Amino acid sequence: MSMNLELQARTLIRDNNFINGQWVAAAGGRRFAVTDPATGKLVADVADSCPADARAAVDAAAAALPGWRATLPKDRAAVLRRWHALILEQQDALAALISLEQGKPLAEGRGEIVYGASYVAWFADEATRIYGDLIPQQQRGKRMSAIKEPIGVVAAITPWNFPLAMIARKIAPALAAGCTVVAKPAEDTPLTAIALVMLAHRAGVPDGVLNLISASRESAVEAVGEWLADSRVRKITFTGSTPVGKYLARESANSLKKASLELGGNAPFIVFEDADLDAAVTGLLAAKFRNGGQTCVSPNRVYVQRSVYARFSTLLSAKVAELRVGPASDPASQIGPMINVRAVEKIARHVEDALVNGALVLTGGRRLAELGPHYYAPTVLANATSRMLLCNEETFGPVVPLFAFDTEQEAVQAANDTPFGLASYFYSQDVRRIDRVSRALEAGIVGINEGALASEAAPFGGVKESGYGREGSKYGLDDYLSIKYLCQGGLE
Ligand code: ADP
Repeated sequence: MSMNLELQARTLIRDNNFINGQWVAAAGGRRFAVTDPATGKLVADVADSCPADARAAVDAAAAALPGWRATLPKDRAAVLRRWHALILEQQDALAALISLEQGKPLAEGRGEIVYGASYVAWFADEATRIYGDLIPQQQRGKRMSAIKEPIGVVAAITPWNFPLAMIARKIAPALAAGCTVVAKPAEDTPLTAIALVMLAHRAGVPDGVLNLISASRESAVEAVGEWLADSRVRKITFTGSTPVGKYLARESANSLKKASLELGGNAPFIVFEDADLDAAVTGLLAAKFRNGGQTCVSPNRVYVQRSVYARFSTLLSAKVAELRVGPASDPASQIGPMINVRAVEKIARHVEDALVNGALVLTGGRRLAELGPHYYAPTVLANATSRMLLCNEETFGPVVPLFAFDTEQEAVQAANDTPFGLASYFYSQDVRRIDRVSRALEAGIVGINEGALASEAAPFGGVKESGYGREGSKYGLDDYLSIKYLCQGGLE
């Protein structure tokens, strides 16, 4: 990254909470460090919030709710469109900020800005299309209708892997629906989210409508706990791990908050013998290695039909061996550092366990300590089996385990043999098989001869323990609305 770009990114850094339109330090005066995962160097110290800060954010959001929900949808749309324009104006600086705190290559960061912003544009339009129903008359003199209303104050909690897109796709529909928001970004990557909120304010989001607090992992439990206990918060929207999602669902049940949970996956990627193998390799590379494999839709288990297994593994390993690993500051880097030491250690543990249980390294298979403590080599492992850790947990790193299979039924059964059900992928050129397998896969998202699935126009979300709720698409606003039934009598 050029010095100039880093300076641009630094102009977007704010290091305090944003509550009721003001930048405020944490009530307890504490701060925590945000570091660059490529170098371990300090990027900024930010507010480490306590329950009093969380409460102040809800006070502001609750006070702003009546005014914001009363605005005309087209006026909310106009604010969102201005926000969209400001995000795109700052594309380079925001991408550089993402690279600084999250480590992904600049080109990927630039892509994330456009992707995240696309939800803001999408929901600007959707704001003006929140239709209700006039119900066909059931009785003389009575009119029945259903209208949709904003659900109220929304609490948004987001992960570090897409520091801009994950929070944008929660805030945008909430604001479009007429809700007000309290948000807490991940402790590893709060700076991009803070910058995004600053741009929203510049775009004209009124004071109190959008509030953000940052917190270290230790403080997050109590701060978010305050939101969970507060009955003024009517909805929790969360992207992150399944254990934390379950905890949030349990805790928010006390005040019966609505929840949208986008949780972990364990995505299968199936290559049938009738697939276009080159296309399957290209699709797998795109799906697997984006963000170094640190995405919830990243293929975690790759099933290859035995008759094409050798050819596919040779093609794939050659491509994976060519991937360039390095810091975002080097424009040639395709895979950056993993987010933290915990993440690299999990990857190393999964690979060691696979090797002990009979897997073979085709390429990679080691940490790249010469680059820094957070780097892991892009890896392909042959002879993977269902006993291995990497079959049962999300590895969240640049590791492709190859499993051989014989029949379609066996592949589908193995693919579904997991508590998770977010994304799934398969490659085949047989139309009947495409129809059968797309219906048989237990997943919220199916990629058919395609590795790049995400779009603001499509419903994104999981089944089983990957959660519930959908983000994006014409369904994406439903999670932020409640339906009110009006029954008017005495009309004749
Ligand atoms: P990851 O393993 O990717 O860090 P997590 O589910 O642990 O995913 O974290 C996602 C988000 O949830 C982050 O913003 C994190 O601070 C928050 N979080 C983690 N644990 C808790 C908790 N007990 N209460 C509230 N928020 C939490």
